[in-house]
Amino acid sequence: AAVLTAPRRIEIQGFEKPRLGPRDLLMKVRYCGVCGSDIHLWEGHWNPPYPLILGHEFIGEVADAGGEALAWRGLEMGDPVAVEMIIPCHRCDWCRRGYYNLCVTDDRSIFPGNGAQYGCNIPVTRPPTALWGGYSQFLYVPENAIVHRLRGNVDWKETALVEPLAVSARAVKRGGVRSQESVVVVGPGTIGLMAVVAAKAAGADPVILMGTRDSRLELGEALGADGSVNVTEAREPVEEVKRLLGGSGADIVFETAGTPSAQAQSLKMARRGGRVVLVGLTGGRGLTIEPDSELLSSELDVRTSYLSAHAYQDAIKIIRSGRFDLDKVVTHIHPLREVDEAFRRFVSREGDAVKVLLDPWPSNP
Ligand SMILES: [Zn+2]
Ligand SMILES: [Zn+2]
Repeated sequence: AAVLTAPRRIEIQGFEKPRLGPRDLLMKVRYCGVCGSDIHLWEGHWNPPYPLILGHEFIGEVADAGGEALAWRGLEMGDPVAVEMIIPCHRCDWCRRGYYNLCVTDDRSIFPGNGAQYGCNIPVTRPPTALWGGYSQFLYVPENAIVHRLRGNVDWKETALVEPLAVSARAVKRGGVRSQESVVVVGPGTIGLMAVVAAKAAGADPVILMGTRDSRLELGEALGADGSVNVTEAREPVEEVKRLLGGSGADIVFETAGTPSAQAQSLKMARRGGRVVLVGLTGGRGLTIEPDSELLSSELDVRTSYLSAHAYQDAIKIIRSGRFDLDKVVTHIHPLREVDEAFRRFVSREGDAVKVLLDPWPSNP
C-alpha cells in the first residue's frame, strides 16, 4: 500500500492481510481514483492522521471473507463490489435518521463531527488492520461498511467513477431535479462533469455547464451538456447563461467549483423561486451576500449536498445504462507505485488529465 507518512511524503509499505471478523470482507482493489481532496491531505491540509493510506474512490472484488460474511451480505467470492467511502456507525442520531454522511461517531481529524471515511481520516494504526484506504492492493471492509454488488460484465475503468458520480447523484437528489427542468452546473471538475451526467440521467433539459477551460467544457458537452459558457471568454457570463436558458435563469444551479465567486454567480443564475445546491467546498473561505435582494425577494432555496450517502445505487445504474461516454473522463492510469507521478500529472493537468486512476495490480488486462 502507499502510505502518507508526512506532508508530500508517500512510502510504499507492505502489510499483513488482516484476520477477518465473522462479517468482515477483504476487497481486492482494482482501481482507485485520485481526487482533489487526496491532494489536500497529501499537502498536509485538514490535519491528516499520519500514517494514512489515502484513496476513497475505489472499486474491486471480494478477495476474502469472514465465516458469515458472504451469506450475510449475499455475496460470493470474487464478486465485483463497490464499497461506499463513508463507514457509518449505524448508531448515532444522524445515521438513524438516514443522514449517515453526517455520522458523528469516530471522527479523528478532518471536519470534526463526521464519521469514519476511507482514505481520509483513519490511520493505519487503527485496529484491526492498516488497510483503510484505496491506495492499496487490498481494502478492509468491516461489518458496518456499505457494500454494493455489481452485476454482469463490469467495465472497471468506468465503474471506478462510482464514488464521484455518487457525490453528484446525491447533489441531484438534494436539488430535486425533475424531468424537463433547466440546470446550470458551475465548475467542470470531476464532480461538475458527473453532475452533468446525473442531471441528464434525471431528465434535466437543458443542462448548461459553466467553467474556465474549453477542453473541460467540450468534455462536458460530450457527456451530455446541452451547452456551455466559458466564464473567462464571455463578457457577462451570468447573462450569457440566462440567454441560453431563454432569459429567466435556471430551475436549479449546482455549484461544484468551490470558490466564493462561483457561489455568488450561482445565486444570480437561478430563476426567481429556483434552487441552488452548493456542492464544492471552498476551503474555509467566506462569502458575503445581501440576503434581501439575492435570496429573499426571489425566494431562492439554497441547499447543500455533502458526500455520497444514498447515491451509490443511482451511480451504478447510470454507469450500467451505458448512456454516457464515461470512458472519456478517465484520462490516465498509473501503477500505484507511481503515485507521485500520478499526483504530479493530476495537479499539473498535463495531457488534459481529468480523472487519474491508480492501478495496484499493474498487470491487469
Ligand atoms: Zn473524491
Ligand atoms: Zn453514525
